[in-house]
Amino acid sequence: MPINRDLRRDALLGLILTISFAASALFCVALTRESGGVATLWLPSGLMAAGFVLLPLRRAAWLAAGCTVAGVTVNFAVGAPVDALPLFAGLNLFEAGMAALIIRRICGQRRRIADLATLLRIALFAIVPTTALTAILAGALLGYLTQSTPQIVIGWFTANALGMAISLPAVMLLADRRAGHDSRRALAEQITIYGLVALLSAVAYLPHSFPTPMLLTPALVAAAFRLGPRGVALSALMMAIIATTMVSLGPAYHGALSQPQRILNLQFIIATALFTSLSVALILSEQARTRRMLAMRTRAAKRAQDRAQAAGAAKGEFLATMSHEIRTPMNSILGFTQTLRRHQDLPDEARRQLELIHRAGGSLLAVVNDILDYSRLETGEVELALAPRTSRAVAQDTLEIISPSAEAKGLELLLEEVGPTDLPVMVDDLRVRQILLNLLGNAVKFTAAGQVRLKITVRDQGPDVLLRFEVQDTGVGIPRELMHRLFRRFSQADSSVGRAFGGSGLGLAICKGLVEAMGGLIGVKSQPGSGSVFWFEIVAEHAAAAPEEAEPAHADALGKIRVLLVDDHAMNRDLGATVLDLLGCEVELACDGAEALEAASGGGFDVILMDIHMPVMDGVEATRRIRALSGEAGQVPIIAMSADVMPEMMERCRRAGMSDTLGKPIQIEALHAALARWTQAPADQDAATTLPAVA
Ligand code: ADP
Repeated sequence: MPINRDLRRDALLGLILTISFAASALFCVALTRESGGVATLWLPSGLMAAGFVLLPLRRAAWLAAGCTVAGVTVNFAVGAPVDALPLFAGLNLFEAGMAALIIRRICGQRRRIADLATLLRIALFAIVPTTALTAILAGALLGYLTQSTPQIVIGWFTANALGMAISLPAVMLLADRRAGHDSRRALAEQITIYGLVALLSAVAYLPHSFPTPMLLTPALVAAAFRLGPRGVALSALMMAIIATTMVSLGPAYHGALSQPQRILNLQFIIATALFTSLSVALILSEQARTRRMLAMRTRAAKRAQDRAQAAGAAKGEFLATMSHEIRTPMNSILGFTQTLRRHQDLPDEARRQLELIHRAGGSLLAVVNDILDYSRLETGEVELALAPRTSRAVAQDTLEIISPSAEAKGLELLLEEVGPTDLPVMVDDLRVRQILLNLLGNAVKFTAAGQVRLKITVRDQGPDVLLRFEVQDTGVGIPRELMHRLFRRFSQADSSVGRAFGGSGLGLAICKGLVEAMGGLIGVKSQPGSGSVFWFEIVAEHAAAAPEEAEPAHADALGKIRVLLVDDHAMNRDLGATVLDLLGCEVELACDGAEALEAASGGGFDVILMDIHMPVMDGVEATRRIRALSGEAGQVPIIAMSADVMPEMMERCRRAGMSDTLGKPIQIEALHAALARWTQAPADQDAATTLPAVA
């Protein structure tokens, strides 16, 4: 039981302190009292004060009573004037009580000397003033004794201040288990050091030899380095007792000082040595504590970092898996919808429903792409593919894509150009387009009537070019108090509006991430009710010249090509065969990498469309083996078609020797463009490897 343990500990401390009080009082009175009745060294007040600091109030009262009885008895036994006994007892109580009160204020709840600052504050603000005040009181009250008042005041102050300076910190440190925590040494070492302290204390004032008190300081400093604050405290107490005894009992050596003066001198040396070495010990233990704390924090930080890394890796893996799992069925939904839409003979209602499925599938795919994009931005995995392009071309491409939805809402879509917008610059046009599409898409979404304007401003700054894009609308606008949340993930300025229009709330966060990845700035100005202006600025390098726009390939331009389609999902094979058939290709099917390798080694294919995750042999391994085939069979263009569009997978595909990558769900146009690229325009093959991961 902790209460019982506390009680036992306090009772033991009280008992030890009372006995020590009596013993030290006897020691000080018997050995050091001058003829005037005031001891030259007074250790007991410090012991009592330490007890008052360490014990709860009620138990401290018991200690006060015990010490008073002990003090009166000792004084009476050594023949002190009877009428002075209550005065001595009262003054001792007052002195110890005052000092304890001040120390409790200095130390607060902890009541321990944990650092040098506390030790100095105790000495200056508790020991010195209380002993000085008691000395004045003693001078006034004991003036009828033989000594004169000033002598009593000085004698009391030096004896009590020195005594308390030695005994009080010593007891507080000895009672504090943590004070010895950093410097636990082997018993042999402890015995050696304490033995050395005892020996030097005795030798310092050996009779008939020259006194060598200067040996005491190194002894205490050694204790400070090896045994810590507690070791110093114990050593100083031993020193005070042994050396005082030696001086008192030994014959006076030849010198000008009287016995009491020599004791005073000795105690002064011990007190200074104690304070010096205690300072060293406290600083050392503070350092050790800081080191321990630092090591602890470093370990905690390392653990947190490991956890974060593991969580990051798990998140990446989860996203890759989920993205794959969602894209695979999406491939069939979107793919078959696309092929069905091409049929001219559908009833009107069926066509309308098909359009709805197609649109819903597209939105779902956009959400999956947003989540994937955002997670890549968060982990810094987005790599920019810079290529020469003009800002005008990027803007026009984007407007072309967005114009059907603007038209559908009856909105005017305008392009405004300022500066040399046809200047070729190095940009990642796909990423810039992605940002513009997002901003323009939002502008169209949140504008019921009026116009949406894209303004591009290009400023040639000499070594580089500043590109500023502004998307202005005449829509609902955004309330001022919600603006600061706009670019944060999953934030929809007004969730009721956002919900009504749909959207993941990731769009602007992705835009911000992308603009920042390009080293640019993004912002918004808006007036509720009168529209918003979203803008971003990037700095791009000059480019030699933007390439001519490639003419989009036509379906019949493919000609009759032979395609090997490798996929372990029957539905994907079915869809792939339908789409390729639609594009006029001759298709052969394989269910896994091993079958693909066997088919490919026969040669005769113009292109292989290779899935990646497959049983028996995966697409990456199959590609490696096909590339190892001799002759034309090993040269065939291999296009990865996978729902796993994480950058690491793309990189693995390229390293295995794949020519290109297409993300699932397959868009007919993108598949067509890739087939055209690899079967008809060998000169463009290098450029084609920078195709986007997601078609
Ligand atoms: P979401 O993908 O849901 O549209 P965004 O991050 O793109 O997410 O946009 C977050 C929110 O910002 C939207 O839900 C909308 O409330 C607000 N917002 C964005 N653009 C506009 C705009 N042009 N006009 C009014 N509100 C807008």
